[in-house]
Amino acid sequence: MRLKSLEINGFKSFADKTVIDFMPGMTGIVGPNGSGKSNIIEAIRWVMGEQSAKGLRGSTMSDVIFGGSKNRRALGRAMVTMTIDNSDHFLHTDFDEVQVSRRLYRDGQAEYLINGVKSRLKDITDLFVDTGLGRESFSIINQGKVEEIFNAKAEDRRAIIEDVAGVFKYKQNKLKSQNE
Ligand code: ATP
Ligand code: MG
Repeated sequence: MRLKSLEINGFKSFADKTVIDFMPGMTGIVGPNGSGKSNIIEAIRWVMGEQSAKGLRGSTMSDVIFGGSKNRRALGRAMVTMTIDNSDHFLHTDFDEVQVSRRLYRDGQAEYLINGVKSRLKDITDLFVDTGLGRESFSIINQGKVEEIFNAKAEDRRAIIEDVAGVFKYKQNKLKSQNE
């Protein structure tokens, strides 16, 4: 599975439709402060179903819609589409290529699409469940998170490592069977 491209339109600082193609291998995104690097990562988290406005550095979800600049009026809609090469069927779907989209209008109307078909948030969440991706995973580490992990208490840090290693669900199963 591989992230092939990202289309950002009206999301945060990306007022114009912007398509980013990701080549195989590692990608680095560089640019001056405030140029939108973090906004790209947030677009990825958002399209995968992020529900926390605060987690996207806003106070309400409509803060992700381009809010205007000196020379440009605010827009009424944000849209992000992520295209994934799924030829190895890492995501549990028959599609070789998966396109996930999310749209949000200023009046609060919102929708998710999977390969152009209207879907529920649950469908998006299910698509990424147990893959190590998704909105609750540690595959995306925000600015500040590394410091938080270093400063965490030993038990909390252990919980993070267990979560990443996938040990957590076995621990829960063990507890459950001990109580039965
Ligand atoms: P740094 O190197 O400091 O981490 P960065 O490249 O990660 O910077 P971002 O944080 O992605 O930069 O971009 C911040 C910019 O995005 C700011 O100029 C901010 O005004 C702009 N921005 C954020 N939300 C919106 C919005 N809804 N509408 C318009 N611009 C926005
Ligand atoms: Mg940043």
